[in-house]
Amino acid sequence: MFIKDEYDVVVVGAGPSGSTTARYAAMNGADVLLVEKRQEIGSPVRCGEGVSMEIFKHVDIKPDPSWFVNEVTGARIFGPSGKHILIDAKNAGDEVGAVIERDAFDKHLATLAARAGAEISTKTAVTSLLRDSGEITGVRVRRMGEYHDVAARLIVGADGFESQIARWAAINTNLKTRDTTSNLQYRMTGLDLDPRFTDFYIGSVAPGGYVWIFPKSRDTANVGIGLLLSRIKGASEAKDYLDAFIEKDERFKNADILETVSGGVSVSAPLDCVTANGIMLVGDAARMIDPLTGGGISNGVIAGSVCGRVAAESVRAHDVSKEFLKRYEDGWRDLLEEKLYRDYMAKEKLISLDDHTLDMLIDALSGATMENLSTKEILRAVRSKYPQLVSEFEDLI
Ligand SMILES: Cc1cc2nc3c(=O)[nH]c(=O)nc-3n(C[C@H](O)[C@H](O)[C@H](O)COP(=O)(O)OP(=O)(O)OC[C@H]3O[C@@H](n4cnc5c(N)ncnc54)[C@H](O)[C@@H]3O)c2cc1C
Repeated sequence: MFIKDEYDVVVVGAGPSGSTTARYAAMNGADVLLVEKRQEIGSPVRCGEGVSMEIFKHVDIKPDPSWFVNEVTGARIFGPSGKHILIDAKNAGDEVGAVIERDAFDKHLATLAARAGAEISTKTAVTSLLRDSGEITGVRVRRMGEYHDVAARLIVGADGFESQIARWAAINTNLKTRDTTSNLQYRMTGLDLDPRFTDFYIGSVAPGGYVWIFPKSRDTANVGIGLLLSRIKGASEAKDYLDAFIEKDERFKNADILETVSGGVSVSAPLDCVTANGIMLVGDAARMIDPLTGGGISNGVIAGSVCGRVAAESVRAHDVSKEFLKRYEDGWRDLLEEKLYRDYMAKEKLISLDDHTLDMLIDALSGATMENLSTKEILRAVRSKYPQLVSEFEDLI
């Protein structure tokens, strides 16, 4: 397939956020090019592959057996002593509900974008933004070793954690080490699991983060760890911590590793601004990952649907100014910002607690009703047993 010389919108990156943006922009009448630097959309996978079922309510995606492999009923959160609480899937955050095959899922979302009319070009890397008198006029791409200039009125940076579009557009997405995690994950088989639950382990087992087990079936799961960069000396420590965890757990005694992946995840508060004249950022590029869970698929897809709609509107209105794109800022913030802030505060609190306090927290919550979990309910449950733990949150209870 040949790329044309001109489009209304170029979306950079065909992850979940980019494909959804391209789909909604095309559905709303824009001429869209979706470019992906990798040769295959969705591969290699760098993800625990856990998603909440909420995603299917916000965006029109029907679970498909090619990627929807295990629906889970809840999350078990284990404290350092081994005691756990069980949280119903609908209350357990972005990563709990289903375990998917990310490569097939990403291809599915790209297919939906193509069906809506977007053109897709793989093995096509955006290498710079084109400008005329300071205004964005398109992108330069490298495709099969050759450079092309593609004119476009609007560029969407859906290029992930290491977004270059953000840097080139001078949108500040810098992260502090205390707002970044280093992650390592094995896809393992030969396990002996209960596939109804995704498991999380908190405390000194994973400084500033957690260990996860996301089961695809009884014997196969993604087993990973995320560590806060400010709590470790180097990214290589993730392997030491994960291997130490696996070593101690009987369920792994016959396990084999099928795949190893690593990558960074932002756990920051939401950014003040994710737009510039002619530019919108979405998903990981816009630091939309939930800071408590580290899950970014749902937020990226939800924000992508708003981003795509506003992209089409701005092209129709012949106005790609930052002022016009405020519609996108308002739209995604309405849906996600409050929860992102709340979860950021919760993360900040959790990382300040030692193992003993975390055990008290798990103990206090083990009696609470977890079907209708709210922040208030959690705080009340903790106060009834350990009032000193929540004294600074009295106003909220
Ligand atoms: C180890 C690990 C485990 C995780 N587990 C989970 C989980 O279980 N659940 C969850 O919800 N989230 C998880 N996440 C986070 C999740 O993977 C991301 O939030 C999600 O992929 C964000 O989607 P995105 O479309 O914004 O970005 P990405 O999926 O990163 O997609 C960005 C795309 O842009 C492409 N690209 C980059 N630069 C260019 C360029 N210049 N030109 C063209 N293309 C470009 C990339 O190749 C990539 O395909 C995990 C992350 C890691 C690292």
